[in-house]
Amino acid sequence: MTAYRHKKALGQHFLHDGNYLARIVAAIRPEPDDLMVEIGPGQGALTKPLLEKLNHLHVVEIDRDLVAHLGQVFPPEHLTIHPADALKFDFGSLGAPLRVVGNLPYNISSPLLFHLADYADQVSDMHFMLQKEVVDRMAAAADTPDYGRLSVMLQARFRVMKLFNVPPGAFTPPPKVDSAVVRLAPLPKEAIPYHDAQRFGEIVARAFGQRRKTLRNTLKGLVEPGIFETLGIDPQRRGETLSVEEFSRLANHA
Ligand code: SAM
Repeated sequence: MTAYRHKKALGQHFLHDGNYLARIVAAIRPEPDDLMVEIGPGQGALTKPLLEKLNHLHVVEIDRDLVAHLGQVFPPEHLTIHPADALKFDFGSLGAPLRVVGNLPYNISSPLLFHLADYADQVSDMHFMLQKEVVDRMAAAADTPDYGRLSVMLQARFRVMKLFNVPPGAFTPPPKVDSAVVRLAPLPKEAIPYHDAQRFGEIVARAFGQRRKTLRNTLKGLVEPGIFETLGIDPQRRGETLSVEEFSRLANHA
């Protein structure tokens, strides 16, 4: 597929560096019978070495030209192609326990991560290449500049492990930013700190919606003023200073 024109709007930067591809596959450690889905396979840079280890792989790709190409290169008994938008794809339909991998389109990475977090119950792990800045936000600790809604929502469901950085030169065309590979391992049920996912999500979204405002202001109507005192959480604090555990305590105290 040498004459292929990269579609910038679809975040198409294809990995060509064999060393980094090998490092990613080594980090994933595919076993022949794994149930695995790759998001955004592109021209198959990662798909090919994965299929050297796996009996079968699912892929979700939005670009019809690439879907046609993949269909010509890989036999259907080994590769099931889902021509779809990963943001709307029902990952639950593939079964469980599901392993999710991908060199993701960077322009939709946050909404895609939130979408995938909904399937945490069915997932055994996820490995992604993302913009380094996004990986830093995913793994950030409370009260640091990178800490935000993405950090809290993911860390409440997954252990987030940054694995290694990947420079722009490993891709064609090179992106303007550095990249990094990250592993997400779902927490066991008993380690999930909140009881009600919807209430937790609402509190976190509100607390980070207006970062400069105090919890007393951002959580008005959601958390009764007296509850802060009962929980020993100062309502003058801002959301960005609260740990995942403190957000959970607020959410659990209905
Ligand atoms: N995995 C390939 C590689 O490493 O060379 C391609 C990675 S490229 C960064 C991202 C891929 O995601 C492209 O193939 C692009 O067409 C696809 N893509 C973009 N938006 C998508 C979406 N909403 N759903 C599924 N695939 C998408």
